Amino acid sequence: MTSQFDDIPILEKYYDIVRIIDPLSDVPLPPGNSHTDKHKWDCCHTGSSSIACNNCVALQAVRQQETFFKIEMRHEQFFMVTAIPVESAGRTLALELIKCVSEKAVASFPPIPEKNTDIYRSIAKLNDLAIKDALTNIYNRRYIDKQLPLEAAHSLQRNLPFSVIMADIDYFKQINDHYGHPVGDEILKHFAAQLQNNIRSKAGDWVARYGGEEFLIVLGNCPEYQAYKIAEKLRKVIEETFFTTSAGTLRITASFGVHTFSGQENDLKHLVDKVDIQLYQAKQTGRNCTAATNISCTGPHDTVSFKIIKN
Ligand code: GH3
Ligand code: MG
Ligand code: MG
Repeated sequence: MTSQFDDIPILEKYYDIVRIIDPLSDVPLPPGNSHTDKHKWDCCHTGSSSIACNNCVALQAVRQQETFFKIEMRHEQFFMVTAIPVESAGRTLALELIKCVSEKAVASFPPIPEKNTDIYRSIAKLNDLAIKDALTNIYNRRYIDKQLPLEAAHSLQRNLPFSVIMADIDYFKQINDHYGHPVGDEILKHFAAQLQNNIRSKAGDWVARYGGEEFLIVLGNCPEYQAYKIAEKLRKVIEETFFTTSAGTLRITASFGVHTFSGQENDLKHLVDKVDIQLYQAKQTGRNCTAATNISCTGPHDTVSFKIIKN
C-alpha cells in the first residue's frame, strides 16, 4: 500500500530536515516518522524541548489546513521552515520541511556574528508580529486561540490542574472619556507590563491581551487556590501602582475572574466563557476584587475608578 509519506525520501534530497509531527499532541511520533535532522532542530513537538515555539507554523498548518512558512534563526544560521498539513489514519499531522538558506538564498543573508544584528532583529520581529499585540507587546488574541486549547489539553492528558485568570480594568471607559484615547493606551501598556512582570514566566505562565482592556493570564500546573492567590497578588499590585502618563500620575483598579479547568470545557469558547462568568461575578460584587468558581469573593475593596495623583 502506498502512502503520501512514500515521497519523503525524495524530499530528503532537497531539505536538511524532513519530518512528520503532531503539533496537537505532546506525545512525539515514533522514530520512524522523523526523518533526516542534520541540525538537531529542538522542538516541543518532538519531545526534545519543553519550550513552545513562538510562531509554530506546524500548528497553524494543522489548525488552518494550509501550508505555512517562516524564516527562523538557529545555530547562527537562517532556516526556511515550511509546514504542510497531511492526513494520516484520520489525523491531521504536519509535514515539516526545513532548509538552511544562509548560503543558498538568491538575496543572500549576511553572516550573523551576534544575535544583536539588524537582520536578526528584523526576522525576530516578523515572527513576533504574528503573535504579539502591537500596543502592549504581550501575546495577542491569535496566540490565545492557538495556545490555550493546546495547553489545556496537555494539562488534562497529564492530569495537572490548569487555571486561567481574566483581568479587566475597572471603569476604563472613563479614562478615555476624561483624558483621551492616547492616555488610555498608555495605561493599557503599563497595565500589561505590570501583569507581565508579576507572573511566573519561568514556570511557563503567560499573559495575553484578550481584547480592549481585558487580559488573560494562563497558569499551567496551577490549582484554583494558587491561581486565586496569584490573581489577588496582581489585583493588589495594580491597586498600589502609580501609573505615569502624559496626563499625570493615575491610579486604577481592576477586577479578576479565576477558573480552573475540569476537562468538561471542550473548546476555546467554553474555556473562556467559564473565566468570563467569574469576571462578571467580580464586577457584580463591586469591582477591584477576585472571584473564583469555588472560592467566595472577598470584596469589593476600595474602588478608584481613576484618580489623578499629580499633574
Ligand atoms: P467596567 O468596570 O465594567 O469594566 O467598565 P469599563 O468602562 O472598563 O468597560 P467598558 O466595556 O464600558 O469600556 C471599555 C472601554 O475600553 C471602551 C473602549 O473604548 C476602550 N478600549 C478598548 N480598546 C482600547 C484601546 O486599544 N485603547 C483605548 N485607549 N481604549 C480602548
Ligand atoms: Mg471589558
Ligand atoms: Mg473594564
